[in-house]
Amino acid sequence: MARKKIETCAFCGRKGNEVEVLIPSAIDPEVFMCSDCADALHDILQEYRGTMKQAAGKKGADIETGMESIPKPREIKEYLDQYVIGQDSAKRYLSVAVYNHYKRLQQPGDDDVDIEKSNIVLVGPTGTGKTLLAKTIARLLKVPFTIVDATVLTQAGYVGEDIESLLTRLLQVADYNVEKAQKGIVFIDEIDKIARKGDNPSITRDVSGEGVQQGLLKLLEGSVVNVPPQGGRKHPEQRMIPVDTKNILFICGGAFDGIERKIAQRLNTHAVGYTTDASRRINSDSYLNYVAPQDLKSFGLIPEIIGRLPILTHLEPLDREALRRVLTEPKNAITRQYEKLFAMDGVKLTFAPEALDTIVDKAIEYKLGARGLRAIVETVMIDAMFDLPSKDEKEFTVSAPYVMEKLRESHYELNSQAATDAP
Ligand code: ADP
Repeated sequence: MARKKIETCAFCGRKGNEVEVLIPSAIDPEVFMCSDCADALHDILQEYRGTMKQAAGKKGADIETGMESIPKPREIKEYLDQYVIGQDSAKRYLSVAVYNHYKRLQQPGDDDVDIEKSNIVLVGPTGTGKTLLAKTIARLLKVPFTIVDATVLTQAGYVGEDIESLLTRLLQVADYNVEKAQKGIVFIDEIDKIARKGDNPSITRDVSGEGVQQGLLKLLEGSVVNVPPQGGRKHPEQRMIPVDTKNILFICGGAFDGIERKIAQRLNTHAVGYTTDASRRINSDSYLNYVAPQDLKSFGLIPEIIGRLPILTHLEPLDREALRRVLTEPKNAITRQYEKLFAMDGVKLTFAPEALDTIVDKAIEYKLGARGLRAIVETVMIDAMFDLPSKDEKEFTVSAPYVMEKLRESHYELNSQAATDAP
């Protein structure tokens, strides 16, 4: 009769009666680890993760180590090109502004020349890549980055969040490392929504407009503000953390719906008297090319805010060709993401060129722009994602008729019609 093997820990060699418990291996029932070794392993892992995190933190602080580590404007643009289609003008402005911003952080303080901060404002229709640009830059620079929505802000005392809470998220992504947060980037989306209604200061109190702008001004121009670490006012007892915004780069984005009219008005007024038709010949789509600070003022931003956003650039609406490129070209293009998802199940996924054309056509038809591309692809792929992992198929091609069929089945046309018709 075979003698039962004595069960011991494969790591320390102790027997079952010498330890709290022996944990058997999932693959070999004769191999064990004891509870003490498991505890020790846990501690080693904790320490290892801590070291890795610290190393990553150091890498993240690259920007602080010296100018050599800051990419040159051309390199920044090349990096952006890998993720964002088109928008050349905005990319150039951003690259230079960001480069100068970090150069400014290293300026020697021994002369009278003080390089001022160059916060940026991006004007362009929704879904053209404003947020994507800001996000991509932050990833390149490895600095804390956060996106906040200007629409949630109201003056202190009114319902909504306080201006200071804009920085809470930044502190959080910087793991509450104030030093790091103070060199981060904040993207303020929908800045146009805090414009006051019209060019003239209103006599009645303008709760959502000018007051908020005044508050924002404080942050943009650089000052020490007390930030609630948990955000909001839900925790009145929380200790505030002072954060200096002097070196935080603010990138503001907004669609500024209707600003083309202000630009057109300005250009036409100028034309009167000394030139005939030059400005009137401008295609209405390209008015944004001419956007100037005074147009932001006409739109309802106060001059002080405009003064603190010295870099003004625009993004073009994405045409059919650009949308088609958005689908396949960026490093993490939607189609590439799906190909990867399917590859993980051992399935080779291919999008037929006509299928991509159809997806773009639908995004244009429903006026959904680049944002719509993902929604459409997701609707088209849901059945395949549900079924394929349980099947033996090794290849799957998305054809144009397949796109149409899936959109029809999901009543996509009706749903998006309802969405576009909604007020
Ligand atoms: P917004 O201009 O409203 O900030 P976003 O940057 O959030 O627009 O764009 C929404 C999505 O559309 C992005 O996540 C991206 O997938 C896609 N997208 C928009 N514009 C571009 C572009 N120029 N190049 C590549 N993808 C884009």
